Amino acid sequence: MTTTIRYYSTNRNLTKVEGINPFRGYVTFSDALLQGQAPDEGLYMPETIPELPIDEIPALKGKPYPEAAMFVTGAFLKDDLPRADLERIVYDSYDFVVPLERVVDRKYVMRLDQGPTASFKDFAARMMARLMSYFREKGKRLNVLVATSGDTGSAVGEAFKGVEGIDVNILYPRNEVSGRQKKQLDTIGDNVQALSVAGKFDDCQDLVKMAFADPSLHDLNFTSANSINFGRILPQMVYYIYAYAQLCEKGEEIIVSVPSGNFGNALGCEYARRMGLPVRKLVMPTNENDEFPRFLKTGSYSKVTPSRACLSNAMNVGHPSNLARFFELYGGTVDRTGAVHVVPDVEMMRQNIYSVSISDEETKACIKETYDRYGVILEPHGAVGWRGLEKYLEDTGDYEPCVSLETAHPAKFPDEIIELLGITPELPDSMKDIDKRQGSPVELTSDYRIFSDYLRKNLKVGD
Ligand SMILES: *Cc1c(COP(=O)(O)O)cnc(C)c1O
Repeated sequence: MTTTIRYYSTNRNLTKVEGINPFRGYVTFSDALLQGQAPDEGLYMPETIPELPIDEIPALKGKPYPEAAMFVTGAFLKDDLPRADLERIVYDSYDFVVPLERVVDRKYVMRLDQGPTASFKDFAARMMARLMSYFREKGKRLNVLVATSGDTGSAVGEAFKGVEGIDVNILYPRNEVSGRQKKQLDTIGDNVQALSVAGKFDDCQDLVKMAFADPSLHDLNFTSANSINFGRILPQMVYYIYAYAQLCEKGEEIIVSVPSGNFGNALGCEYARRMGLPVRKLVMPTNENDEFPRFLKTGSYSKVTPSRACLSNAMNVGHPSNLARFFELYGGTVDRTGAVHVVPDVEMMRQNIYSVSISDEETKACIKETYDRYGVILEPHGAVGWRGLEKYLEDTGDYEPCVSLETAHPAKFPDEIIELLGITPELPDSMKDIDKRQGSPVELTSDYRIFSDYLRKNLKVGD
């Protein structure tokens, strides 16, 4: 008998909400992966969460990262594809190191910044790209269209580079990305094409939406590879178990701090705990976009709109897209607009989760202090995580072992590091030659006709 896990939509019970036509069915992992979002604009959730054989975790100590990845993703996918195929995908995705740097006592920073774009998003995007290539309908190309305002686009582009059967087009606003971001986007090459649009980020997003909705482009088999895809959540469960195996003794509980924006990363930890990982507390610090810490405190939710522009700019989110999944796991329902339809069990949330808002001033002070005291260099996102952890420990008198996530490489934020620490952080190997690379973006206006002509003339349909 197979026990394939089925996936359902977070909006399935919203029968009386205007504009939502609830999807009450179930799909397989590969459908959830290739569709990205449920037809009712809800998020796909696994119907059951597999239990990990906890006794086997200590055996991962000292082993390469892909072994932890097999252990965790195998539990979810064992009935969806043969183990040997999953192994190929996992080893191809994770060909870089995952350093755990001791800060003080048994308090660590896990550096998730050694992938091709020096961001933790590489972990999820690389595995999702390979899973999509594996599960796509054979003989038909998949065409990924993404609009980006900067970093996400290059992580997605690099993740799909050289992946069989998939081509990627990335639209970015010509005058709104930094010089280095433009280099990163323009020079990926191979099956990844940058489209430099004379317009704003919203124009890029509109062009992508119109192409998705255009029946005359239907045979181009578009997909979005967006951040709410469950295929991106699954790989983000792995490093929590990896860290525990390296740092903890049998029977110990670990405190984990995850600097949070759209909550996909922290959701990986929530699932890892539900798979059986002994997580004492999931700390979810945010920047000044404080909708979630306020919710935990008061029990009533209101998004921050417009979102506040903070130093940790990848976390400038006023209504986290994965909040719907957190609510669902605690018995609540919130929709895409931020309207709460069923209030989750807030008491239970408080038992498992601690959240606090860290201001830009505190973020800067933390970067400086952590360097002066411990010689550890953090960038703004990692500093929000570390300061949030410190606040939790101060607040509760709780102790250790702890791990805080560093989600980007300090060299991606040279201005802050130079200003605060007076040193220039060295670029990671993956970015060393970035300024010398030559790119060839296609230049477009925000006119849909020109864009759709480009797609029709240049995109491939068959393998
Ligand atoms: C995306 C991002 C985050 C936030 O992660 P979420 O999963 O959206 O909570 C934090 N740090 C960096 C560097 C990021 O790129």
